[in-house]
Amino acid sequence: MSSAAGSRVFSVEVFPPKTEQGIGRLEREFAQLASLSPAYVSVTCAAGPEASERTYRTVVWLRERLGADADVAPHIVAVGATRPSLRAILSRYRALGIRHLVVVRGDAPTGVATMTGEFPHAGDLIAFIRAETGAAFHIEAAAHPEFHPEATTAEADLTHFVHKVAAGADSALTQCFYNADAYFSFVDSCVRRGLALPIVPGIMPITGYERLVRFCAAAGVEIPRWLRLRLDGLAGQPETLVAFGADVIGRLCERLLAGGAPGLHFYSMNRAEPTATLWKRLGLVRPSQRPPGETTVSAGEPERCPAHRMAAQPSVEESLVELVEERPRAGQLAPSNARRPSPPPRC
Ligand SMILES: Cc1cc2nc3c(=O)[nH]c(=O)nc-3n(C[C@H](O)[C@H](O)[C@H](O)COP(=O)(O)OP(=O)(O)OC[C@H]3O[C@@H](n4cnc5c(N)ncnc54)[C@H](O)[C@@H]3O)c2cc1C
Repeated sequence: MSSAAGSRVFSVEVFPPKTEQGIGRLEREFAQLASLSPAYVSVTCAAGPEASERTYRTVVWLRERLGADADVAPHIVAVGATRPSLRAILSRYRALGIRHLVVVRGDAPTGVATMTGEFPHAGDLIAFIRAETGAAFHIEAAAHPEFHPEATTAEADLTHFVHKVAAGADSALTQCFYNADAYFSFVDSCVRRGLALPIVPGIMPITGYERLVRFCAAAGVEIPRWLRLRLDGLAGQPETLVAFGADVIGRLCERLLAGGAPGLHFYSMNRAEPTATLWKRLGLVRPSQRPPGETTVSAGEPERCPAHRMAAQPSVEESLVELVEERPRAGQLAPSNARRPSPPPRC
């Protein structure tokens, strides 16, 4: 994989599938995502050892799929983690040749009020990883341009972000947002506070109205009134809504790049087409890149994504994808939760 354009970094995020259906989807969709040659692929992680194992297996699969030099960045979550569990995870990833991590606090799973762990905030975890592994990993931290839902004040949230960076983050990926000014204002505030790290906008393609509303409500992300009303009006016309959403997000990306954003990180939700459409519009697909369905990598395809073959309840992400884009499965969507349990990380 390679960075798609100049020194800017264009990357994608996937989540570890939990069900047979989800594994099949990732296998199918990832061929097209790989054909975009993202600079790196990040893999989300939920709290707890089983989730961590799923992420690890997905990372292994991606490395087999993309080649030993491919930049694959597992997410590491603080919630529920202990020093020994973290040491074990870090040592496994180092043995695999992983050099890139996305380090976040995470949220307690749906229905669990709190989860004990030794790292109350992402900054504590970042400091621990730095102390344990020195410069072995490039560390991405999460940034919240519209401020984290638990923030007492914007200033306090910024101060915590500054401390998190000081703990050892190399760059940051943002929560999604639909207002470019929120991003520019956040970056300006960081610069005024002396930060110089790249803060890469997280981009969530719009593929469904309900999903967007649920995500954003739980993540504290504002959907501008004009956009909400337009999407609401298209709720019964999925194809028109997707085309409209692609245009809105395309314009948002263009504005961010014109304003100096150091790249874009696409939350693919294990769906290739919405991200691929945006990459085409932004001119990130180079002529040498192969058409969808073919990958640019040579490592041969393992027969199945080994993320998890065990039968399991779908993850929150899978439930959301199914709710909007596939057969609805009543009762499997965590109520009023978004992409990640209570609250989700982004819309
Ligand atoms: C790019 C990205 C990737 C993500 N990936 C995942 C994932 O894989 N899995 C997952 O479960 N979630 C993920 N999330 C969601 C994320 O875990 C949630 O948004 C979570 O609620 C906050 O994570 P954080 O790392 O920003 O936390 P923190 O930086 O710890 O901040 C959380 C809150 O605590 C406050 N805070 C921070 N430090 C202190 C301090 N020292 N003292 C007092 N208050 C403090 C902050 O102001 C903020 O309100 C991701 C989010 C983003 C943006």
